[in-house]
Amino acid sequence: MATLKPGVVTGKDYKTLVAAAKEGGYALPAVNITGTNTLNAVLEAAAKAKSDVIIQLSNGGAQFYAGQGLSDGFQAKVLGAVAAAQHAHLLAEHYGVCVVMHTDHANKKLIPWVEAMLDEGEKFYERNGKPLFSSHMLDLSEETIEFNLGECARILERMAKMGMSLEIELGVTGGEEDGVGSDIDESADNSKLYTQPDDVLQAYDRLTPLGHFSVAASFGNVHGVYKPGNVKLRPEILKNSQALVEQTHSTGHNPLNLVFHGGSGSEKAKITEAVGYGVFKMNIDTDTQFAFSQPIGSFVEENSKAFKYQIDPDDGTPYKKFYDPRKYLRAAEVGIVTRLQEACEDLGSNGKSIAG
Ligand SMILES: [Zn+2]
Repeated sequence: MATLKPGVVTGKDYKTLVAAAKEGGYALPAVNITGTNTLNAVLEAAAKAKSDVIIQLSNGGAQFYAGQGLSDGFQAKVLGAVAAAQHAHLLAEHYGVCVVMHTDHANKKLIPWVEAMLDEGEKFYERNGKPLFSSHMLDLSEETIEFNLGECARILERMAKMGMSLEIELGVTGGEEDGVGSDIDESADNSKLYTQPDDVLQAYDRLTPLGHFSVAASFGNVHGVYKPGNVKLRPEILKNSQALVEQTHSTGHNPLNLVFHGGSGSEKAKITEAVGYGVFKMNIDTDTQFAFSQPIGSFVEENSKAFKYQIDPDDGTPYKKFYDPRKYLRAAEVGIVTRLQEACEDLGSNGKSIAG
């Protein structure tokens, strides 16, 4: 079995990692991070689970990483993403697992964000001989298929020169994430909500000659967590897309690299089924957000006086060791570490790191 050096993986190592997951019948968790606390917690969880992992930033997450105080929001989205990637390049190898650095949904108005990150990526490549990010996503699923694939082809050609991979989206993931996505609308055109195998074949034909890519397919998945019954996952849609490409081009089994968006709150059986159809990446944002915030809530509740007084007004007890932000931020980090280890179990990635 292939082994890779621990740390951020890019280029042919990234392809090896994706292939290993598909062959091994597991998928990697992809977690949206917004700062060093969440990023480090993901690395810690991956190390504990002995799982390789995907770290990603939404445009809003990247802006937050750079700091809400920066007045140029666009610049902050670029700088924050670059800062997070550089942080990961420095630290990830010390956690002993393989880490993919990726950026999440970029719709039509965010194409310039991706292009600006590629400007930075090309400079990084020139200095270091490797890409800054392993991959980026372009989500033009709200546009026509012609526009979607045309732009994806244009961007992928630029990325492929550095050995980077592109994640595209076909069919609309329900729910909304960071201003990208759409409200769940029962009356929406069904063909938009469920990825059409013909579209996937078109994407395969157009992009395969250009470079490495993956497809976020819609099979009833939604962003966010809703009350049971609202989400009906139909993983067989993924199977149909794989089958059409496989039959048309006489490829091997599961030729497409598929991505599962909106994995939070999904049943384990549906996750396992989707992984069997070539899903190598599952995004879990909402569940890890809650896992981070919930322990802070408990900590504040249990130590409420320390969040009102530096010294107890009745008995003079000093509360420094409780309001020190490291106390509750560490509790939050542990929340992610625990939740993400469960996700690795659900995805079958625990104990499967190919870092050697
Ligand atoms: Zn998504």
